[in-house]
Amino acid sequence: MNKFDNIDYKVIDDFISNLPFTKSESMLEIYNYAMENNVPIIKDDVASFLQNMLLSKKPKRILELGTAIGYSSIFMAEVLSGNCEIDTIEKNYNMYEIAKKNIDNSNYKINPIFGDAIDELTKLDKNYDFVFIDAAKGHYREFFDLIYPILSDDGIIISDNMLHKGLVCLSLEDVPRRQRTIARNMKSFIEYIYDNPQLKTSLIPIGDGVMINNVIK
Ligand code: SAM
Repeated sequence: MNKFDNIDYKVIDDFISNLPFTKSESMLEIYNYAMENNVPIIKDDVASFLQNMLLSKKPKRILELGTAIGYSSIFMAEVLSGNCEIDTIEKNYNMYEIAKKNIDNSNYKINPIFGDAIDELTKLDKNYDFVFIDAAKGHYREFFDLIYPILSDDGIIISDNMLHKGLVCLSLEDVPRRQRTIARNMKSFIEYIYDNPQLKTSLIPIGDGVMINNVIK
């Protein structure tokens, strides 16, 4: 018997995603803007998880794929009291412009990069201790292969949106036709990751599914 057999998973999900999470005044302002303008940003349970990972790991160099309006990058800098440098890549120019303003107002060492992560990753020549992937799901494998060589020896990669609203957990024939390609790609990416003995992986059902990889090089 599965430990969750008698509980609707939604009950657990609602409980966890409604746990309190306190935001600073400046984060709350960006958060409210995102909510009012339908900008997708990390959920509170993912922010809380990131916070704990950052406080344990204390990374100096962080890379983010998917800046949107800068909420998660400013949040990560705030968690580390500004003791880090963050490069963050965004391909939507409008988002990038808003992020730049928010980042300038924050005074943290965050470098927003405009462009497609697939191109921009090949131009980076530094090593990163902590990478947060929160961009187009269809490209996670390409992102991962480009990040791996620039990850420091004890680096960590955290990827959001791994479970695509749970559809990745279903058999493909049960996934609505329009979502099948993304579900198939994510499933094969997960297999690819779990096949790599250098990666110590956990897949956690918070947000839209968060994966954490410690890399033993
Ligand atoms: N991390 C942000 C936060 O929580 O504040 C939210 C990021 S949002 C979920 C995803 C962002 O990734 C979008 O703004 C989208 O334009 C961007 N994006 C998608 N594919 C990308 C790519 N290939 N390169 C760079 N940015 C990408």
